[in-house]
Amino acid sequence: VVWEKDKGWHSAEVIPYGPIMMDPSAAVLHYGQEIFEGIKAYRHQDGSIWTFRPEANAARLQRSARRMALPELPAEIFVESLRQLIAVDGAWVPTPEGEKTLYFRPFEIAAENFLGVRAAQRAEYRVIASPVGPYFTGGVKPVSIWIALDSARAGKHGTGEAKTGGNYAASLLAQQVGYENGCSQVMFLDAETSTYIEELGGMNLFFVYRDGHVATPSLDGTILHGITRDSVITLMRDRGIEVQERKVSLDEVREGVKTGDIVEVFACGTAAVITPVGTLKSSVEEIVIGGNEPGRLTVEMRMELTGIQYGIRPDRHNWMLKLAD
Ligand code: PMP
Repeated sequence: VVWEKDKGWHSAEVIPYGPIMMDPSAAVLHYGQEIFEGIKAYRHQDGSIWTFRPEANAARLQRSARRMALPELPAEIFVESLRQLIAVDGAWVPTPEGEKTLYFRPFEIAAENFLGVRAAQRAEYRVIASPVGPYFTGGVKPVSIWIALDSARAGKHGTGEAKTGGNYAASLLAQQVGYENGCSQVMFLDAETSTYIEELGGMNLFFVYRDGHVATPSLDGTILHGITRDSVITLMRDRGIEVQERKVSLDEVREGVKTGDIVEVFACGTAAVITPVGTLKSSVEEIVIGGNEPGRLTVEMRMELTGIQYGIRPDRHNWMLKLAD
């Protein structure tokens, strides 16, 4: 779908997967004016195909668009694009649990050709799909996280809240150092004080306390408004669990793990669903959580969420939308 300042959105079409022709002066290539989403389709046992909270992804894409001076894509076009792609794409990969998922990558780019720093007057929205297996191989085994001590992902009044490539570009070096140190994800702290935990490169974080309450970093403008995060908060509150959205410092977590006050840590996102965190590592320390075993609430919330997504558990909040029979 193409957007032009004087025409609005037009020219929706489904075309075969292939390279995009682009002018070398296209704004996206120089100024990173682009945004994207990540959302999955789930095949249920009766063969029907569903997606999870697409209106939340559509709203987040619009929010990202506002921050990145791109046009907002109407939610109906967003949902329709998933529907049309499902109609032609049948590639699925089963996870070890036998679940079949397809990952959508909707994205919007500045497609005006000029050299000069200003918002583009032409944009393109596309969606591609890829069959996905598990994000982390090895099922729900706890993962090791690298703590980025000398690299920030997003600062105050920056673009941290937007799902835009620049934030990920800023995270890649730390991610690479993490890999080199045996970690599969990197954890970022706040850019101003390097004190408070923000999020992982592609997931939000939760801390489970011995007394039963749960804490997760609040949405203060620098972290992504994770849809899994929001869903997990709702599902935990449904069960009467107290969830605090607040600042969580690395010191608090280190101390809490040491005293046994923090009993579980998990990360969540569309791709990895809910994954236990076993170790937090940096060049100066190693914090091992819950004996490096998946925690009880972590496993329960994973079962609950995947149960809803695969149509096995009741969808009390009407989160699932059918894309095809
Ligand atoms: N934080 C970042 C930086 C991400 O890239 C993602 C994945 N979209 C998340 C958190 C989790 O968001 P969601 O639950 O909507 O997938």
